Amino acid sequence: MSYVGRFAPSPTGPLHFGSLLAALASYLDARANNGTWLLRIEDLDPPRESPEVKEQFPEILEAYGLLWDGELTLQSERSDLYHSVLQTLIEQRHAYRCNCSRKQIIERCDNLVYDRYCYSHPPQQDASCAIRVKSEDSLISFRDIIQGPHAYNLNSTGDFVVFRRDQLFAYQLAVIVDDEQQGVTHIVRGSDLLDETARQIHLQQLLGYPTPAYAHIPVATNLEGQKLSKQTFAEPLRADNPAPVLIRALHFLNQNPPAELHNQQRDDILAWAVENWDIRNIPQTLSKPLLMEQ
Ligand code: GLU
Repeated sequence: MSYVGRFAPSPTGPLHFGSLLAALASYLDARANNGTWLLRIEDLDPPRESPEVKEQFPEILEAYGLLWDGELTLQSERSDLYHSVLQTLIEQRHAYRCNCSRKQIIERCDNLVYDRYCYSHPPQQDASCAIRVKSEDSLISFRDIIQGPHAYNLNSTGDFVVFRRDQLFAYQLAVIVDDEQQGVTHIVRGSDLLDETARQIHLQQLLGYPTPAYAHIPVATNLEGQKLSKQTFAEPLRADNPAPVLIRALHFLNQNPPAELHNQQRDDILAWAVENWDIRNIPQTLSKPLLMEQ
């Protein structure tokens, strides 16, 4: 089986050092395995996105020498595909329409675990509805390449939304449809998505898709221990001096770049990193918070 990896950022904020760690780790793992590496922009949520940020993604990745294979894909252009998968889930009674408001759920449901009310009381056809997938009372287990064995009972979080009440597709649905459709075999991404993985595997099983291998890298935090993100004002990645940032990222991924590499150019650094890549060196968590000193 040939290796297909991908980087799948959402344009809800500029790429930052934490995004670079995910991009670099997935790129190096693909290249070290003679694999294909895809770039997919997950632009499913226009109200939270910025068109400028979306345009910058390919430019920044090119500046860091992280060149993807084939055409870049945009989820915003793939709605027909998501619609047809949604229909399949509904026809097979794995998914159902739900028009409960957040207020109703807070009032009615323990720990916000949805009580499946709309499954037995279908809303009127003209109501604006979310679509939920039924969870199951069984353990979903998987072995993450970095984080080790995980087991999760989806009933603890309940039936989840794959199509939102504001008529936007949810990340959970689009991500598994695209990974399957693009033949992705290995997913290397931040461990903030580890908890989403069981729901994604559940969907893959319902739809008869293969489950890719997962490797969740530790999430970079600021000095307060908060995940780097737009909300925590993470410094956007700059395109002008990638070499030292790549070296720092390799240290964070515990790849032990030698001192001589520190004076090298971007492409030499990447070539060394592909040659010496060892995913087993990546720690499960980062021992020190990341100070953004750019
Ligand atoms: N688009 C998601 C994000 O930016 C990542 C999706 C994934 O890697 O599965 O958080």
